[in-house]
Amino acid sequence: MVRRVNVASILCVAIALAAMLSAPALAGLYIPDITPVNVVDRGQFFTPDPVESTSSEIALEREINPADASADTANAGADQKTPDITVSVYDIVSGRTMILGLEEYIMGVAAGEMPVSFGAEALKAQAVAARSYALYKIAHDSENDEGHHGAQLCTDSAHCKAYVTREALAAKWGEEKADEIFTAVGAAVTATAGEIISYGGETALAVFHSCSDGATESAQAVWGRAVPYLTSVDTPEKTEPVVKTFKKEQIAEALAPDGVTIEDAAQPKLSYDDAGRVEAVDFGGVAVAGTRVRTALGLRSTDFSLVILDGEYIFTVRGYGHGVGMSQYGAAAMAAAGSDYAAILAHYYPGTALGKIPS
Ligand SMILES: [Zn+2]
Repeated sequence: MVRRVNVASILCVAIALAAMLSAPALAGLYIPDITPVNVVDRGQFFTPDPVESTSSEIALEREINPADASADTANAGADQKTPDITVSVYDIVSGRTMILGLEEYIMGVAAGEMPVSFGAEALKAQAVAARSYALYKIAHDSENDEGHHGAQLCTDSAHCKAYVTREALAAKWGEEKADEIFTAVGAAVTATAGEIISYGGETALAVFHSCSDGATESAQAVWGRAVPYLTSVDTPEKTEPVVKTFKKEQIAEALAPDGVTIEDAAQPKLSYDDAGRVEAVDFGGVAVAGTRVRTALGLRSTDFSLVILDGEYIFTVRGYGHGVGMSQYGAAAMAAAGSDYAAILAHYYPGTALGKIPS
């Protein structure tokens, strides 16, 4: 039974904070141990931002700048009828490669990416996004990715997507909760079986993130390459800012690889992009990209402002994640307001077409 939750009352900050506390667990564990998720959904774990680590951002950069992408490889992973598609997934815990049905894989991913309380239509949008993302990766030679050991995908949430089995959920949260999750998520996956979003005939790179404040970000701003359907769009979720304070010495230390000295760090000047996020920070003539500042200082997003007070450098940060593509909290808010999954996907991936995997 899916609990009905007033999504507007769910502030992104709760989950984001939980993620920060658990950040070290994200890289290596089969199931990220993000305990405080029960704030929104008793028991179900949640990977607030599935593409949040530096490594995954590098991986994404590689994906949207494929050296050898060509039209005839674009749908290499999607050239079978839906029921017959299998994917190979390297399990980073057991070190073994699993062969899974595509829908079985998407089930395990969707269960790991979004609480059932986000609503049926948000879960459907999540399932389609995850399916599209997986097929995009497969179509772009993901079997050659480092750490995949020849498999098309892996279970590392910092690289591909977290994948969780019903058994693993039951072991962690109990049979009843596992049933609840798999019933709700299973319904969303089944209802959208074989559906993807595409652009210009190619499966879309349907990246997503936890939440944004007012507007999402463009792929151009984050990864340096424009993707027609990964542009900045407005997003309805509510967020609470999180404040993080540094001394200039700490900033200089974090940005030393970028050539920032303590003197440089004293008077940073922020410049903003069209989405209202920090494009770059000028440290005494040394310009550092906002994305790099975010990573170096461990900020939740590039949507930040800075005030210097009594030698304290006070960063106020909104949203969580790279900000590109679908906002999961935004999807939940849209679903709560009556939007169906097609409308959610069309909003966050403008210009894409929702349809079946080409056979
Ligand atoms: Zn991977």
